[in-house]
Amino acid sequence: MKTSATRPAALATLLPFLKPHRRLLVLAVSALVIAAAATLALPLAFRLVIDAGFAAASTASIDRYFLGLFAVALILAVATALRFYWVTLFGERVVADLRQAVYRHLLGLDLGFHETNRTGELLSRLTTDTELIQTVLGSSASVALRSALMLLGASVLLVITSPRLAALIALVIPFVVAPIVLFGRRVRRLSRQSQDRIADTSAVAGETLAALRTVQAHAREAYEAERFGAAVLAALAAAVRRTRMRALLTATVILLVFGAIALVLWLGARAVIAGGMSGGELGQFVLYAVIAAGSIGSLSEVWGDVQRATGAAERLGELLATDSRIRDPEQPVRLGPGSGRIEFDRVSFSYPSRPGVNALTDFDLHIRPGEHIALVGPSGAGKTTVLQLLLRFYDPQQGSIRLDGVDLRQLALSDLRSRLALVPQQPVIFAGTVYDNIRYGRLDASPAEIRAAARAAEAHEFIAALPDGYDTHLGERGARLSGGQQQRIAIARALLSRAPVLLLDEATSALDSHSEHLIQQALQRLMENRTTVVIAHRLATVLRADRIIVMDRGHIVAEGSHAALLAQGGLYAELARLKFADTGAGAARL
Ligand code: ADP
Repeated sequence: MKTSATRPAALATLLPFLKPHRRLLVLAVSALVIAAAATLALPLAFRLVIDAGFAAASTASIDRYFLGLFAVALILAVATALRFYWVTLFGERVVADLRQAVYRHLLGLDLGFHETNRTGELLSRLTTDTELIQTVLGSSASVALRSALMLLGASVLLVITSPRLAALIALVIPFVVAPIVLFGRRVRRLSRQSQDRIADTSAVAGETLAALRTVQAHAREAYEAERFGAAVLAALAAAVRRTRMRALLTATVILLVFGAIALVLWLGARAVIAGGMSGGELGQFVLYAVIAAGSIGSLSEVWGDVQRATGAAERLGELLATDSRIRDPEQPVRLGPGSGRIEFDRVSFSYPSRPGVNALTDFDLHIRPGEHIALVGPSGAGKTTVLQLLLRFYDPQQGSIRLDGVDLRQLALSDLRSRLALVPQQPVIFAGTVYDNIRYGRLDASPAEIRAAARAAEAHEFIAALPDGYDTHLGERGARLSGGQQQRIAIARALLSRAPVLLLDEATSALDSHSEHLIQQALQRLMENRTTVVIAHRLATVLRADRIIVMDRGHIVAEGSHAALLAQGGLYAELARLKFADTGAGAARL
């Protein structure tokens, strides 16, 4: 992800998210103002108690002054509690919206984007960055506002209480503010670095956990742990640098502020002794000075949070501003019932992550409605690319791809993809019940339809034998199902979708002959009445195809039936000879 200098303007990204909750914000700010006013009234009440209350020497008036003091405290307590409640709620609500918006946006971004951005890093944006913003909106911002108000109020009241001492404080302020600004800037830079390192650790862990099978198969746990460890240490080092700078900032601020107060107090004490000021006045003045200093202190602390949140808002803003390269057209063409006619016309395509290298070149293929096409060819020939382009995961640089005569770019993505059922080579099984997993093919399918699809996919028998039948929870990544069973679930899902076009990437792994037989039967049913494009690895599949397309290096090199292609010799005969010669069971594979 692009890194740029942190600008507070980045917080503007958040404005649209704040707006819907402005009522809460108004409530919170009102409570905050009342609480600040009550805090500022306390020293005054305190002075009245000391000077007037004691001087009056009658219990009745002292009672009144103390009652006043208590009333101010009561207002302070209630207003503070309300402020806390409303401000926190505001932060939580805004961030809940923000999280949803970022996630929704991520889901819609094209595969090219997701290939160039690591999942773990994106997850870190979704969690860590939004959390930072929550901290600021849900607490730091109100602390900052309160501190700023109190600083302002206290300053005014300081001047009113004793202009001479206040002037002295004003002289001292530049010496307090300068270091804050200086250190603040460095804290800001270090904060961004620290956040980036944390995102790195998530990225490393995300990648590794996603490929845990490979990691364990190679016994690379220690290696991976070390790699993660290095990323964690780098994050730690960045955090230590940031914290050190912030600690230094805090110490400097406290030292300067309290040094200044001691100076003023000392001069004030001399004034009281000389008779220029009452004890109550000095007490009041000192309380205001403490409030002002405390405000500056908390402002400096909060400043760090604001810096970090600014960085976070900036990164999220970048994400939200990233447009998907694959988008719905302004005026999508609505497809009619449709028969599933597919045309590739002189399509040339290179992947965004590898520009300049064509995965398909001048690719021409017209598929009749209901026709069964088998794509064969050596690995890297471009077979998967054909399916990916049909799904419009990418747009070709040249040429056009049409479904029922309409260019894919003129269709709404949801419309296009509802016409295509995909059975991938490695089916994805989500954590959830068997019902949930099959229903993924069509969300409004009834349980009866789901069971019918499972029957047609030859999956009913093994599902019924599961501990809770269709309600059995499948572990993450379908860990509890065999490869053949996962494939049949994927076939059931595709059957349920009722899409007129089937895209099938056949599994290459050999299955036992019973499983193989069941899957072939299920596929037979799935392909009925559907236009089918299969990346074929099995003899049964090529034999069943209406037309076999032989691909090599992004081109079609031959096409025809199995027998005709064998007779021609060339690449197909070569491929067939290699694959069929494999094993006995392999005789069913191509
Ligand atoms: P096949 O399915 O026939 O094995 P593919 O369609 O997967 O071939 O790949 C065709 C070419 O495109 C290969 O050279 C491959 O390396 C490249 N390729 C495939 N996927 C990507 C991708 N996501 N990014 C960049 N290059 C890719």
